[in-house]
This record gives sequence, structure tokens and C-alpha cells, in this order.
Amino acid sequence: MVERAATPKVPVLRRRLLQAARAMTTPLLPDDYLGLLDPRWSTREATGTIVEVRPETDEASTVVIKPSHEWAGHTPGQYLRIGAEIDGVRRWRAYSITSDPEHPEGLLSITIKYVEDGLMSPWFLRQAKPGTLVFLGEVEGTFGLPDPLPAKILSISAGSGITPVMALQRQLDRTDNVTDVVHIHSARTPGLFIFGDLFRELQGRRPGYLLHERITSEQERITPQGLARMLQTAYVSGVMPELMASLPITGVDGTLRRSKSRVSQGWAHLKTGSLRDAAALAGYVHTTSGKRLVMVGVINHPNAAAARPALEALVDWAVKEGSK
Ligand SMILES: Cc1cc2nc3c(=O)[nH]c(=O)nc-3n(C[C@H](O)[C@H](O)[C@H](O)COP(=O)(O)OP(=O)(O)OC[C@H]3O[C@@H](n4cnc5c(N)ncnc54)[C@H](O)[C@@H]3O)c2cc1C
Repeated sequence: MVERAATPKVPVLRRRLLQAARAMTTPLLPDDYLGLLDPRWSTREATGTIVEVRPETDEASTVVIKPSHEWAGHTPGQYLRIGAEIDGVRRWRAYSITSDPEHPEGLLSITIKYVEDGLMSPWFLRQAKPGTLVFLGEVEGTFGLPDPLPAKILSISAGSGITPVMALQRQLDRTDNVTDVVHIHSARTPGLFIFGDLFRELQGRRPGYLLHERITSEQERITPQGLARMLQTAYVSGVMPELMASLPITGVDGTLRRSKSRVSQGWAHLKTGSLRDAAALAGYVHTTSGKRLVMVGVINHPNAAAARPALEALVDWAVKEGSK
């Protein structure tokens, strides 16, 4: 698909003047000359000028744009494609519109989260500055508030997915319709919650708005107890043979091949798990007296990988102590 900018809304008088000038510039159109001088003067392509790049969190900023022509309008929840020339190539990405539809100065904003190894988000956050030219695509998207509004609203968002939710929530607030809204948002840390202060302030001001912040670096998605119950249920279910066969055996195969423990070698079927800031080991341990135990160990810490020996010691302990 060839991406191109939207056709801007040009005032009637200016369009007539350009039509009149056509006779003098044939075979090219006046617009071609104007666009060559400055793309912002073009009446064929919608453009805008960045007026501010405002940090929201350590890894997200709001980019405020002044459209070169009158803004055609949008409804909260919609997005547009934005183009920029990076190293001589025009690139496009979609961003939700975070400005209000009727901004008093006709400004437009998008809020961008930095993507490691990305192309346009680092450019917007690290290189674009006030005065930089951007190309504006058509306003798109059908995501919006239902009409009529339901009695209760549940919003679920995570990371940069907060942007359209913020636009909708602000619309509800503006129109005094925050009657029964529950909002669950996941962010890695409280400081990385884009618009976190705005939503917290809303909760303090509007009794009809209830915010649940899920801080994924601190709150576990599943508790060790929950995982243990799941393993117990699976053990007495029809999937037990397949599950057991899929789990590495300590000191024998898979990720547990290198386990050096003499105590637990061959005695446990366990799955290792590693994520940033987390290490886990869970599965089934056979004890020397013939019992079978469910074992779950989860470590949440930036240096979790260093605690692997503690998890291995837990397996040894379960093999020996579980027999008693
Ligand atoms: C409707 C819509 C609305 C959106 N709204 C927002 C918003 O409000 N805010 C926001 O921050 N984002 C939003 N996005 C996402 C946004 O469009 C971009 O995708 C995002 O900013 C990343 O773009 P980028 O150019 O930085 O990264 P890209 O260069 O597109 O790269 C993204 C990731 O893919 C990897 N990658 C790139 N090319 C390859 C390849 N060839 N093979 C394998 N991996 C590759 C990169 O390493 C990187 O990790 C929205 C997207 C859509 C569709």
C-alpha cells in the first residue's frame, strides 16, 4: 500500500486563487511550486509542524502538532497515520490521537512510547523537535464510546494502549458521564504509567471512576499457590501423562540436564522459567519414600538468575524432607 497524506481542508478563497494562477504555471500546477518551496504550503498533502515534544514518562512523550491547514476533526478513540522523512525516506506509523477534538488552538497531539530497536518512535522521542515537518494521513478507526452510553463501563489497557482509552475517558469526563467506570491498567512500574497522574487525579475527583493499577514488575500474575493448585489439578486429570513426559527430569534432560545435585538427580519433573527480573522452577518431585509432591519456587528480583542454586536446593530439600 502506498501511504500518502490526507487532502487538507483549504479555504475557498485560497483554492480560487490557486485556480486562477493555474493559467500561468501550466503544465505544472501552482501547488507543485508551492510544495517545492515548502511542503506546508501544499494544498494536496496535509502536513503539520511539531510545536512541542513533552515527556510523559521516562519512555513516552506527547508530540504536539500544529496542522498547516484547518484540522478536519476526529472523534475520541480514532487514530491517524503520521509520516516523517527519516534519512531521505518518508516513513509512516499509526498513532492514536490524544488531543481533544475541539482544541482551542487547533492543535493535534499523539503520545508515543519508545520502542527499543524501533525506527519512528525513537526518531519522534530523540530527534524530532519544534519546527520539524510531519505529514498527516487520514483520520481512521471506529473505536469509540458506544451510543447510547452503557450504564457501566469496564476499560482494560496496558502500556501505550492507554492512549485511546485516555481520549475516551477524557470525553466522558468532559461530558459529565463518569457514572460507573472501572479501569484496569497494567504498567511495569507506577512511573511508567502513561497519563498515570491524570487518571489518579480523576479517581480523586470522580467517585464514579475506579482505577486498578496492575504493576507487573511488583505484582505476580499468578501466585505460587495458584500455580501449585493448577499442577495438582493437572496431576489427577487426563493430561497428566503428557504433562509429565513434557517436563525435563533433574540432571537428565532439557533445561535441567546440567543440574549437579546428586540428591535430586532423576527424582523430579520440573519446568524452569526465566523472564527479566524473575526465575522460577515448578513441577513434581518424587520422594524417596514413594510420595509425589507438587513443588513451586518463584523469585522476583532484578538479580533473580543468581538465586538459581536456591531453587535447586529447594528440590533437594523436597526429595529428602518430603519423605518424612
Ligand atoms: C491503530 C494503531 C494505533 C497506535 N497507537 C499508538 C500510540 O498511541 N502510541 C504508541 O506508542 N504506539 C502506537 N501504535 C504503534 C505504532 O504505530 C508503532 O508501531 C510503534 O511506535 C513502533 O514503531 P517504530 O517505528 O518505533 O518501530 P518499528 O521500526 O516498526 O519496529 C517495531 C519492532 O519490530 C521490530 N522489527 C522491525 N522490523 C523488523 C523485521 N523486519 N523483522 C523483525 N522485527 C522487526 C523492531 O526491532 C521493533 O522491536 C499504534 C499502532 C496502531 C496500529
